[in-house]
Amino acid sequence: MKIIDRIKKGQEEGRPLFSFEYFSPKTAQGMVNLHDRIERMCYLGPEFIDITWGAGGSRPAATLEVVSNAQKVYGVETCMHLICTNNPTDKIDKALGEARACGNQNILALRGDPPHGQSEWSACEGGLDYAADLVRYIRKTHGDYFGIGVAGYPEKHPESASMEDDLLHLKSKVDAGADFIVTQLFFDVPMFLDWVKKCRAIGINCPIIPGVMPIQAYASFKKNIIGVNVPQWILDGIEPIKNDDQAIRAFGVEVGIKMTLELLQGGVCGIHYYTFNLERSTRLILEGAGLVSKTTYIKKNMPWRSSFDEKR
Ligand code: FAD
Repeated sequence: MKIIDRIKKGQEEGRPLFSFEYFSPKTAQGMVNLHDRIERMCYLGPEFIDITWGAGGSRPAATLEVVSNAQKVYGVETCMHLICTNNPTDKIDKALGEARACGNQNILALRGDPPHGQSEWSACEGGLDYAADLVRYIRKTHGDYFGIGVAGYPEKHPESASMEDDLLHLKSKVDAGADFIVTQLFFDVPMFLDWVKKCRAIGINCPIIPGVMPIQAYASFKKNIIGVNVPQWILDGIEPIKNDDQAIRAFGVEVGIKMTLELLQGGVCGIHYYTFNLERSTRLILEGAGLVSKTTYIKKNMPWRSSFDEKR
């Protein structure tokens, strides 16, 4: 089923949706761990999951393996990221064909990061220039078969000259045939809600799903906030505990719950969590925000605990 249809159904039922992003693993053990994690996290009831595509170009098979497994074995709606980096159109054709063959019906169409070791992005020979070109290409070669998502940047894409330019480029991706937008991570909820208004004002009318990154470690938080406006209360909360991993994770859950509740209050159709292939923080955020029941999860994953809990 297409994600856009799931979003519409959720909106009709007044039900907020949530979804998870995983990155495609680099090692065989990473693959085994990820499959286990996806299986467990499926019990939380995500509307869909999505799997990144590495810009290095060396591991498309890993992305396709996770997509195929998630779609066929766990039956969860899966969205495959597809990028222009290192992907001439014959490779794009192959990836789309393989995605279709495993029942996948959703693509997040991206330009992609520069390949590893390169600071600037350039199109490969026989490839496409922008995500909008990829959206057009998918529509040209596969018609309406795929639901297509694209990336949005509430704080502007770093290469864009201005927010106005960036919004027009985002609109061009939607006009090319994208059905929904998933955003880059952010921490400033009022800023995000204001950006959504700017999108609507220029005629971007499709669903916009905010991307939320649970803070799970100080080092990765610092790495991922370059160019991101972090509200002072988060900085004040995190700096004194930066050497205490457990305290960072607990604070990250607190931040995630607060953001989730504020976003839901702001009227978003759903929330996309950047899991970094980890389970606990995302699960605790969903439980804390009342989006999943702890009992359901325990019963499905730890039946021995459920009888214990029921006796208490
Ligand atoms: P585009 O929309 O093509 O935009 C790229 C830049 O070009 C922007 O500055 C835009 O404003 C500008 N632009 C667009 N059209 C034009 C035009 N016609 N003329 C001039 N300028 C134009 N990267 C990966 O490698 N793999 C992934 O799996 C991945 N997943 C992601 C998931 C999400 C939700 C997000 C937000 C990002 C993801 N990225 C991923 C990162 C993404 O590939 C980079 O941010 C990349 O630099 C831009 O990709 P895009 O699809 O937004 O590009």
